[in-house]
Amino acid sequence: MKIDILSLFPEMFEGFVNTSIIKRAIDAHLVEVHIHDFREFSNNKHKKVDDYPYGGGQGMVLMCQPILDCLKSIVTSESLVILMSPQGRTLNQTYSQELSLEKHLIIICGHYEGFDERIRDYVDVELSIGDYVLTGGELASMVVCDSIIRLIEGSIKEESHEDDSFSSGLLEYPQYTRPFEYDGNTVPDVLMSGHHENIRKWRLKQSLLKTYRKRPDLLIKKELNEEEQKILQEIKEND
Ligand code: SAM
Repeated sequence: MKIDILSLFPEMFEGFVNTSIIKRAIDAHLVEVHIHDFREFSNNKHKKVDDYPYGGGQGMVLMCQPILDCLKSIVTSESLVILMSPQGRTLNQTYSQELSLEKHLIIICGHYEGFDERIRDYVDVELSIGDYVLTGGELASMVVCDSIIRLIEGSIKEESHEDDSFSSGLLEYPQYTRPFEYDGNTVPDVLMSGHHENIRKWRLKQSLLKTYRKRPDLLIKKELNEEEQKILQEIKEND
C-alpha cells in the first residue's frame, strides 16, 4: 500500500513514521508513507495557502490551488482521496479494515478554519475521527494511518488483531501477564489451566460481559450466534 499525506506541517509526522510497528511496516516495504507539503505548490510568491473567508467571519480558509495542484501531481486511477474533516463519516474498525485493502490512499489534512468548499469536489471520502474539533488534520490522519497499517497483512500477527475490540463486533476480553499475583490480585484460574476450550469459552463470556456493561450499543448491531446468545442471556439474568 502507498499512502500520500498532504499537510502544511510535515515535521509532525517524523515520530510517527520512525517508531514501533509503523516503522517496521515501512522498513518491511508493506507500506510507503510520503508526506507532501502543499505550501510548496502555492503559485503565490509568498507561498500563501490560505485567505480570508468570503462573507466575513473568523479565521483563514485553505485555498483550492495549492492543495489541488499537489493532489493532481500524485493522484492516479487507483487512488482513494480522503479529506480529514470533522464533518465526515466517523472512522471505525470496519472501515479501517476496508481501507487497509486499498492500493493507494491520499489523505488531505486541513488546518485553520478548514477548506474552501470546492476542494470537496475532488475527494472520494470525508473522514472524521470523532465528534470534536482538532486544530489540524495531522493527528487525525495519523490515527487513520495507524489503525490501517496495523491491519495490513504481515504488519502484526493476524491473531493479534482478530480478537481486538470491535474486530468481531465485541470488546476484547481481559488480558493478564506476569506476575501471577499483584497486590493480592491473582490471574483467573482458567487462564492457568492450559485447557484451550475452557479458555475460549471464558474469553467469549468476558467479551460479551464487557460489551454488555460498557458498550451495549454494539450488541444491537452484532448478529450473535447460538452460543453467544445463550451466554448473553445468562449474563442478563445474573447481572
Ligand atoms: N471549521 C471546521 C469545521 O467546523 O468543520 C473545522 C476546522 S479544524 C479547526 C481544521 C482541520 O482539522 C479540519 O479542516 C480537518 O482537516 C482537521 N480536523 C479537525 N477535527 C477533525 C476531526 N474530528 N476529524 C478529522 N479531521 C479533523
